[in-house]
Amino acid sequence: MALIVQKYGGTSVGDLNRIRKVAERIIKVYTAGNDVVVVLSAMAGVTDRLIQLAHQITKDPNRRELDVLLATGEQTTVSLLCIMLESMGYPAISLLGYQAEILTNRAFGRARIVEIHADRIKELLSQKKIVAVAGFQGRDQQGNITTLGRGGSDTSAVALAATLRADICEIYTDVEGVFTTDPNLCKNARKLPKISYDEMLEMASLGAKVLQIRAVEFAKKFNVPVHVRSSFKEEEGTMVVEEEKDMERVVVSGVTYSKDEARITLTRVPDQPGIASRIFTPIAEAGIVVDMIIQNTRKGGLTDLTFTVPKSDYQRAMAIQKEAAKTIGAEQVLGDEHIAKVSVIGVGMRSHSGVAAKMFTALARENINIIMISTSEIKISCVIEEKYTELAVRVLHNVFGLDSL
Ligand code: ASP
Ligand code: MG
Repeated sequence: MALIVQKYGGTSVGDLNRIRKVAERIIKVYTAGNDVVVVLSAMAGVTDRLIQLAHQITKDPNRRELDVLLATGEQTTVSLLCIMLESMGYPAISLLGYQAEILTNRAFGRARIVEIHADRIKELLSQKKIVAVAGFQGRDQQGNITTLGRGGSDTSAVALAATLRADICEIYTDVEGVFTTDPNLCKNARKLPKISYDEMLEMASLGAKVLQIRAVEFAKKFNVPVHVRSSFKEEEGTMVVEEEKDMERVVVSGVTYSKDEARITLTRVPDQPGIASRIFTPIAEAGIVVDMIIQNTRKGGLTDLTFTVPKSDYQRAMAIQKEAAKTIGAEQVLGDEHIAKVSVIGVGMRSHSGVAAKMFTALARENINIIMISTSEIKISCVIEEKYTELAVRVLHNVFGLDSL
């Protein structure tokens, strides 16, 4: 007998038929003698629609009220699932975020879970109930409803699994698991049977959209084994687990890409203390997140500085930099929205050398120019022209031995 937390995403509960299928899966695990806690997202598209409704009233809806509105999506699915389970003859009870005592800070729309008091859930499990918890939501100290940011029900599930010391957290989704790269882009992509938390973290932050980053951080911190799998198929998906010794044998486990960034370059910037601070402080004050930064050295007390920002913030960032350039005496502000970032990821990089050289050589062979480079212990990213994204991904997937046989 085990304690299993299962999370079903939006497409898995997209209509009543699918909710019935989810109920059948839960019943199978439950009748085998396990305790089951189910975390649900809203039906596919519902959260988007609710946001649109609020935006039809105003561009800047009151954030507290927006969270009250968005939380209804998950309220719908947990209640429907429990009505379904009860009608099939199984004892089930739904809990909203506040009833499950998922306590968060007060950052509406992007709240962080502070703690979970799971006594009520434990009590219900001891009564042999199937407990369905609304994902994506919690409450702050004053009892206000909060939401955890888009995709947040992954985090609800992992956090609950951590608190309950569940044997496993199963994330049911519309893909079969974590792939070596995007299967839509590369037909040779393979499903990974296993991946480490650190690799999954890099993949999630570099464009792979299977799991919310916060969820992986939680899983790593509390060592929760996570199984990402399809709700439409029986096959096993991908286990996200602590790093194991043999994982280092594989140098690169995955290739990711992102077309979500834009590049900004300031040319002939005076090379003096305080200049970088004057460039990046107004960007930070505008709430814009900078990813890569490169500064060259040049003769004559001048330097070039290049960085990337989310494409959605590009126009604002350009405007801010044009102002900054005047005050610090930089020559020009140049920008490019048509870039992509391709990355190779693998814990094996810690113990293998020459990975970067191999990546650069592979790109050079295809005549793909590298615009920027950044590295961490387990990843190498290159910014290239957007039009070469697919080619670069396929070539790297092949060169690092990831193609399916
Ligand atoms: N329903 C929320 C969203 O669409 C949370 C989730 O799906 O995890 O972002
Ligand atoms: Mg989701």
